[in-house]
Amino acid sequence: MNDAQIAAAHPLQPIARIAERAGIDQDLLIPYGRHMAKVDVHALAPGAGGDRREGHVVLVTGISPTPAGEGKTTVSVGLADSLNLLAASDDAPEGFAGATTMAALREPSLGPVFGIKGGATGGGHAQVVPMENINLHFTGDFHAITSAHNLLCALVDNHVQHGNELGIDPRTITLKRALDMNDRTLRHVVTGLGGRTQGVPREGGFEITVATETMAVFCLARDLADLKERLGRITVAHTYDGDPVTAAQIGPHGAQGAMAVLLKDAIAPNLVQTLGGTPALVHGGPFANIAHGANSVIATRTARALADVVVTEAGFGADLGGQKFMDITAVAGGFPPAAAVVVATVRALKLQAGMALADVKAGVDAVAERDGRDRADVAAEHLEALRVGVANLERHVENMAAYGVPVIVGVNRFLQDTDEELAWLADRCAQRGVRCAVADVWGGGGHGALDLARAVADALPARGEEPAAVTGLWQEGMSVAERIETVVRRTYRGARVDFGPIARRQLRQIAERGLDGLPVCMAKTQYSFTDDPTVLNAPEGFTVTVRELAVRTGAGFVVALTGAVMTMPGLPATPAADAMDVDADGAITGLF
Ligand code: ADP
Ligand code: MG
Repeated sequence: MNDAQIAAAHPLQPIARIAERAGIDQDLLIPYGRHMAKVDVHALAPGAGGDRREGHVVLVTGISPTPAGEGKTTVSVGLADSLNLLAASDDAPEGFAGATTMAALREPSLGPVFGIKGGATGGGHAQVVPMENINLHFTGDFHAITSAHNLLCALVDNHVQHGNELGIDPRTITLKRALDMNDRTLRHVVTGLGGRTQGVPREGGFEITVATETMAVFCLARDLADLKERLGRITVAHTYDGDPVTAAQIGPHGAQGAMAVLLKDAIAPNLVQTLGGTPALVHGGPFANIAHGANSVIATRTARALADVVVTEAGFGADLGGQKFMDITAVAGGFPPAAAVVVATVRALKLQAGMALADVKAGVDAVAERDGRDRADVAAEHLEALRVGVANLERHVENMAAYGVPVIVGVNRFLQDTDEELAWLADRCAQRGVRCAVADVWGGGGHGALDLARAVADALPARGEEPAAVTGLWQEGMSVAERIETVVRRTYRGARVDFGPIARRQLRQIAERGLDGLPVCMAKTQYSFTDDPTVLNAPEGFTVTVRELAVRTGAGFVVALTGAVMTMPGLPATPAADAMDVDADGAITGLF
């Protein structure tokens, strides 16, 4: 059975019952059909929605992934189910009996759904449902964010068209239009062609919605007032005199009010359920390679107010989503994680060692049969690849541990993994003093992750106790360039940063504008610690090239674009869309 079939075979509980389980008052629930609801954000207010708990945040991050993804969402969902099973069982660890867990996850983007990676609702018996709705239009948040962002773009161009009172130099409009789709042809466009009444011609472009500053602002804001403030701070262009222009300067009262009108309902987090009946808030969804990569702060804070434990995922590897969660999201949200799970797969570690994809995918037994070889020989080769590729896992673990957070390796078990491989990996972690548990959440849901859940529960501080302070990468007073160099040296283990000519000029402008104290959000390929997707495993001593910087005054960070990373992805030769269809009865095929 595929993911869609497993999800379809599972009876869903009414969303009101899930809300009840989460301790959300029914009058705070805004249902979208029978199985999805928005939660009135007043649930965050003290006293509303039951007693406030300040639950512990468990961050799920991972090793450097393969294009298919290594199962962080799947493990997050399975782990949340498993923690609830464990807390309700007779042999719950001391102090953990009766503890409640919720999941807080990102909303999928249509880019990957129809592109290369597929949906983002987990897989097998560890999914958030209804998966088809969540993967497609859901409650319309991404459409709202796209619209709000494009409204700002339209207002800026309109200002230039009608007298340009602010003296905006159209060539400096940095704001790009947005679309939630992988569409490389829109990266660079010329707008305003056709004569006087058709706008002022200029070079522009599109970003995917999940890379926009509006998405970042949406996910970092604590409430509607904060959202408006941040939207107003977005830098849209510069004047002919070189002064920055923000959204708050567009129109008599600024553009932020009208943008917030479009986002008013969207900022309420979306409640859904896992296949195991665990309440999950799925809200916001910046990518982790070209944005900060975590669900909304509002969703995580709401979940913390409602549950003892909140399992949340940061996108791609611990060098991207993990680093940004620790140094940006957790700081903005005020929730240092109490534990971090680094998801690893045997297959990705073999790929890190350079083993051929077809062999890795097939696994030991299939390769032995296919090539008519002795199984022991094939198994030895695979184990050797694992032995090499484990360096990638160990570096990510070391990096997360350096923040001072307890780290647990969660091995996401695939069908083709052999017992020898899994035992070797667990043994290796034990030798290094790293907590590790193998989980089969895909096949077994929450029941498949009880060892992992126990390891996480053991690592968490007691309920009500504050987690240890996190030691971030950066110190107060570091410049943007120093912050980038710190990430490159400490997290990626590169030797130096090469700032290209555009980036060098931008660094000077950042300093002149007094913005040198801002955090940075690295935009880098997810496939490598370096800025080159083909350099695998755990390289050292390389140079990272920073091509360009994008100042995001609303989000409160500077995006550093490294290598050839793009803020508008393209579709692959065979996009996932090719396999999709819907029949006359409305049944969808090919969505995974
Ligand atoms: P990530 O969040 O790390 O990007 P996902 O959890 O979205 O990864 O998983 C990527 C894909 O791999 C999904 O289609 C999921 O169904 C599948 N998958 C994850 N774990 C397993 C597993 N253990 N066995 C088989 N398929 C899996
Ligand atoms: Mg994911």
